[in-house]
Amino acid sequence: MRMHAILQQDPEIWRLFTCAEEYNGSFRDGYDRFPHYMSNNREPFEPRASRYLVEKGYRPEYPDGQPFAVCLTHDIDAVYRSALSKGYATLSALKRGNLAGALASARQLRSKRLPFCNFREIMALEEEYGARSSFYFLALAPGDQDYSYDVRDFEEEIGMIADAGWEVGLHGGHRAYCDPEALAVEKQRLEAVLGRPVIGYRNHFLRFRVPETWEHLSRAGFRYDATFGYADCVGFRNGMCHPFRPYNLQAGREIEILEIPLTVMDCTLDAYMRLDAGRAWEVTHHLIDATERCHGVFTLLWHNTYMEGERLKFYEKILRYCREKGAWMTSGEEILNAVDK
Ligand SMILES: [Zn+2]
Repeated sequence: MRMHAILQQDPEIWRLFTCAEEYNGSFRDGYDRFPHYMSNNREPFEPRASRYLVEKGYRPEYPDGQPFAVCLTHDIDAVYRSALSKGYATLSALKRGNLAGALASARQLRSKRLPFCNFREIMALEEEYGARSSFYFLALAPGDQDYSYDVRDFEEEIGMIADAGWEVGLHGGHRAYCDPEALAVEKQRLEAVLGRPVIGYRNHFLRFRVPETWEHLSRAGFRYDATFGYADCVGFRNGMCHPFRPYNLQAGREIEILEIPLTVMDCTLDAYMRLDAGRAWEVTHHLIDATERCHGVFTLLWHNTYMEGERLKFYEKILRYCREKGAWMTSGEEILNAVDK
């Protein structure tokens, strides 16, 4: 790949790009993830490897000549609101003196409605901004860790999403990133519902191992992955804001899959980095601007459970900002088709 030949010219950039520090028994957190706090990459908000590529003449092109792209994605961890959080919503509405709100959420406690089965609403919102996105569904079985729905119960919704031109991909469960058998079973389960091959992937909790997870995904027949980012810090894990073919340092060769690196996960901003809305916006628009300067792809993970209140407003703010900049806002599948020719 021409991209690799350029990056290899600078040993420090090549080490950053290939995640050399993640090989050879690097520290892992409780979910077997390499956390940003252990990384030597102290400039996670700067796409250093991508900037180097651009300086050397690399310039990706998008279908209508848009200056950069935004890859919008949603991991579907839950479609039912838990009884506990419904109880909490009732209590907090009461505390605010909002009796009508309290009654409404108390009614939901008993109802069979699925408050996070909000795919149509998400798609309608994105359509207003001329955008599309990817929905990654879990395909777990009862007894699996974090099993919370049966994907077969959503055949109609999944068909509706795919028919409208949005993408349905696999959200691999807790073991899928390191267990080819689990990965194959989950892929098959989702394909049986979708009725066609699944090509896009993101692992639950961003669990990922360099380079093994890429190798497993490639062998399982996935065409791209969108997991590669830090859970504990937003930004550019290997200095890249361009989709790329990963390189396996142990095998000394490139891996047959496209990585569309993850830039921002919603809960990284609030739950991990503890940023308020103002600071979260500062860092988010810095990352969008940095991606724009490199003509890269800004990849956003916004859970369907984050499409409420202030969090929904924040999502819309990102859509508005990127539309004003003329970005191409689309699914992982469409990015793949544009970039991986
Ligand atoms: Zn998840």
